[in-house]
Amino acid sequence: MIEERTQWNVAQLLKEPIGATRNFDVRATVLQDEAGIQQRTPLIGRIVMLRTSEGVLVEGNLDGAVVVECSRCLRPVTVPVTVALEEEFKPTVDVLRGAYLHVDEEDAALLIDEHHILDLGEVLRQALLLETPMQVLCRPDCAGFCQSCGQDLNEGSCDCTPADADPRWDQLSALLQDNNL
Ligand SMILES: [Zn+2]
Ligand SMILES: [Zn+2]
Repeated sequence: MIEERTQWNVAQLLKEPIGATRNFDVRATVLQDEAGIQQRTPLIGRIVMLRTSEGVLVEGNLDGAVVVECSRCLRPVTVPVTVALEEEFKPTVDVLRGAYLHVDEEDAALLIDEHHILDLGEVLRQALLLETPMQVLCRPDCAGFCQSCGQDLNEGSCDCTPADADPRWDQLSALLQDNNL
């Protein structure tokens, strides 16, 4: 079993010539419970780290699964998610001289720290949130809740008439009556 990790020390890779690579098997849990999304299984896959002129390019596809609520009935639904990673990380310290570098990178998640640690955690967290679909149904014909009494219509119909189910119809019929239409 692959060990859970999001951090790698890339000091050695940074000392190597442009084009040098490292392969790593990744297993990463990066999301607790955020924006109604829970990580169901770790992101698993293989990444390649490539020494570039600027830093380290990380590429790879990681597969995992999240649990989100059905948009209609709020039941938990497991959704498979694939993160396609392609990000260049930049060092903040010169690996040979130890001096701080001027780094032209606005996203702090893409910086290799002064101990030469490359951390995928934040990048994977953002990617996972981005790849999770906004609208998920537990099944294509999920009936959801009655708007009026809150009955879960997947478990049976309620006694509300369709007109009761949507208050906008009440407003409309009142309007029609007021105007004798
Ligand atoms: Zn549902
Ligand atoms: Zn009802």
